[in-house]
Amino acid sequence: MSAWEMNVRRVVPYVPGEQPQFAEMIKLNTNENPYPPAPGVKKAIAGVSEDAMRRYPDPDASALVEAIANYHGVAKEQVFVGVGSDDVLAMAFLTFFAGGKPILFPEITYSFYDVWAELFRIPYERPALLEDFHLDVNAFLKENGGIVIANPNAPTSIAEPLSVVEEIVKGNPASVVIVDEAYVDYGKESALPLVDQYDNLLVVRTFSKSRSMAGMRIGYAIGSPALIRAMLDVKFSYNSYTMNAVTIAAGVASIEDDAYFKENVAKVIATRERTTKALEVLGFDVIPSQTNFVFATHPEMLAGDLFAKLRERRIFVRYFKKARIDNYLRISIGTDEEMDCLMKALAEILNENAVKD
Ligand code: PMP
Repeated sequence: MSAWEMNVRRVVPYVPGEQPQFAEMIKLNTNENPYPPAPGVKKAIAGVSEDAMRRYPDPDASALVEAIANYHGVAKEQVFVGVGSDDVLAMAFLTFFAGGKPILFPEITYSFYDVWAELFRIPYERPALLEDFHLDVNAFLKENGGIVIANPNAPTSIAEPLSVVEEIVKGNPASVVIVDEAYVDYGKESALPLVDQYDNLLVVRTFSKSRSMAGMRIGYAIGSPALIRAMLDVKFSYNSYTMNAVTIAAGVASIEDDAYFKENVAKVIATRERTTKALEVLGFDVIPSQTNFVFATHPEMLAGDLFAKLRERRIFVRYFKKARIDNYLRISIGTDEEMDCLMKALAEILNENAVKD
């Protein structure tokens, strides 16, 4: 071992869903939106001037911050923007979880949380979800150094009612509670109305799913001005220019077209409901979803085998080889045509499997 290797920060990185590059494939593995972003987004990108490219971008990303603040009816001092919600969440972990006590997040949730905790040397505990995959509220009412919950949760697709989120935020006045709402546009209740009431609540959102902009990398957080100020201090101690000029313009254009946004969300929800029924016809147990994906298990065929068989047909879904969820598939909602192809393939695979038995 070289002497310098003693000084290396050792981490086990998060593994994102694969991004295969086949011309012909059905990609339902990373919860991307099958529809393009609002038409104004491409126009705004084309309209970015060479001067804007030559110069450093606005370090405050003010145009985007103001657009988001106006959209949600909050002050601009309550908004933090970053390079996808991954960046926003990482900054929030770095900012708010420095107290030394273990932070809490569920055992089954977005698998980046434990990676950031390890990276930043934050101790953590992962209370188990209940039998039905709902949150065990009492497990989040003990002493802690901070709390993170994804609502709706991933990969289970289950949303907790606002009363549950409020109980946790109210019960932990000495901790920052991060509510990751990556999928909330496909669900019911956002925690945003609670932000003015509780100064320890940080709500995190993304443009990656419901705004069809995963490739642009835009995420944001909304909280009390004191929380946002603390995050900005950490951000400006790390990298002033996280948001580039093109991304800022694209983000503003997306926010400006609310009719397109609503229509996009409605289409995905309609396909999700159709998909749930079609999977049930094939014998799957499907958890009622509040997201742009479904989490499903089949009583007669192992999820790992189904995943592999679909992959052979260049249909990509997500499979997690983890305790309690290793017999489930997470299937992102694509277009109706893509979901029809998936159903056809699943029917064939299940049929072959039944014949073999
Ligand atoms: N939170 C959750 C629960 C997610 O599933 C994802 C998507 N992988 C993210 C945050 C991060 O999304 P992005 O960085 O694209 O905003």
